[in-house]
Amino acid sequence: MAEEFSADVVIIGAGVVGLAIAAQLSAEGRDILVLEQREAFGRETSSRNSEVIHAGLQYPPGSLKARLCVQGNRLLYELCARAGIPHKRLGKLVIALEAPEVAGLDDLRVNAERNGARDLRIIGRAEIERMEPHLNAPAALYVPSTGVISAHSLMAYFAQSAGDHGANIAYRTKVRGIERLDDGYLVDGVDATGERFAVRAEVVVNAAGLWADHIASLVGVNTDEAGYRQHFCKGEYFSVAPGKTGLISRLVYPLAATGTERAGTRIHLTLDLEGRMRLGPDAEWLPDTWRDAPEYRVDSSKRQLFWRLAHRYLPWLEPSDLSPEGAGVRPRVFGPGEPQRDFIIEHESARGLPGFVNLIGIESPGLTSSPAIARYVSALLA
Ligand SMILES: Cc1cc2nc3c(=O)[nH]c(=O)nc-3n(C[C@H](O)[C@H](O)[C@H](O)COP(=O)(O)OP(=O)(O)OC[C@H]3O[C@@H](n4cnc5c(N)ncnc54)[C@H](O)[C@@H]3O)c2cc1C
Repeated sequence: MAEEFSADVVIIGAGVVGLAIAAQLSAEGRDILVLEQREAFGRETSSRNSEVIHAGLQYPPGSLKARLCVQGNRLLYELCARAGIPHKRLGKLVIALEAPEVAGLDDLRVNAERNGARDLRIIGRAEIERMEPHLNAPAALYVPSTGVISAHSLMAYFAQSAGDHGANIAYRTKVRGIERLDDGYLVDGVDATGERFAVRAEVVVNAAGLWADHIASLVGVNTDEAGYRQHFCKGEYFSVAPGKTGLISRLVYPLAATGTERAGTRIHLTLDLEGRMRLGPDAEWLPDTWRDAPEYRVDSSKRQLFWRLAHRYLPWLEPSDLSPEGAGVRPRVFGPGEPQRDFIIEHESARGLPGFVNLIGIESPGLTSSPAIARYVSALLA
């Protein structure tokens, strides 16, 4: 006999999104249980990303990615200031690599302003040289509201805040089945001791990241018909030798790298909170079977390619400066060559699943958007 528990709300997944939702809903007085298959929070995509607080530049106006990113940017800075979460508002330069691309910077500025991003400015070579003397670019879009954050500290804050409001997080607890009941759901799986468990809940929030489409299928959603099937796109990083720290002080994104389909031809430079530089992520589609045995190795033979792409704007960079660092995998609801799609955040009443919320395809800017996603989910359930 499986041990049976109950909660108002079960949240599947203790990544940044599940934790943000747990913090939000528990603060509203709901009794929350978070189920996480791994031994701690944030062991998947939420700790395998660039830790950038994005400004919401390139997403289609009106999309969830645009709205939740711009709102999340503001909420995150407020939260960081209030809760002492390590972060830095470094600013970003989206650079043209060649003169003909300068018009593209202005298109990006117009799009970003429609999304609600503020204080954007196109700057020329002289101003770039004043701001970043070690950067080679003819023009850039300067984005002061981009920053970096400790994703771990953010998740720890959400987990603590949820706990303070009475939420529980069960680790090493893997969901394997979801049954629709008359008055909610029965979520079952295997717990840390290998025992079966079951939880009754009125509301279930599926924030399972790379496995979110699988979780949706457990409750009976046909993921192909719904357009929920996820595809996996790996992003690898190379760190830049610590001896070069300080040469660049803002994030640098070559223009075309903001369109993910062309990301393989351009490579970003990001900084961590200590100012250490890293290049990436690139974009490499994985087979759908990747999820059966996930691994995050970095292909060290890409060093030359990363160097060649970044050397165009970092003329001082040597191939020997680069070391393989880490990788993350984006869950996407589009595959290679298909048009990009928005986040899917649905309260599934129309599918006969009242109280069931699916979050599918939560790739970038999911970290930035997390506090705004939590409010959005709360409103869907109100
Ligand atoms: C390379 C890369 C760079 C990125 N850079 C940025 C960036 O700079 N800024 C930004 O805003 N966003 C960025 N993102 C996006 C951001 O990292 C994600 O949107 C965000 O982390 C998603 O969080 P999540 O909670 O949805 O998923 P996850 O962190 O993957 O959490 C899902 C959790 O669900 C658990 N789970 C899954 N199945 C089960 C089950 N059956 N039972 C129990 N638990 C289960 C998993 O173990 C996992 O812990 C980047 C992503 C990638 C891949």
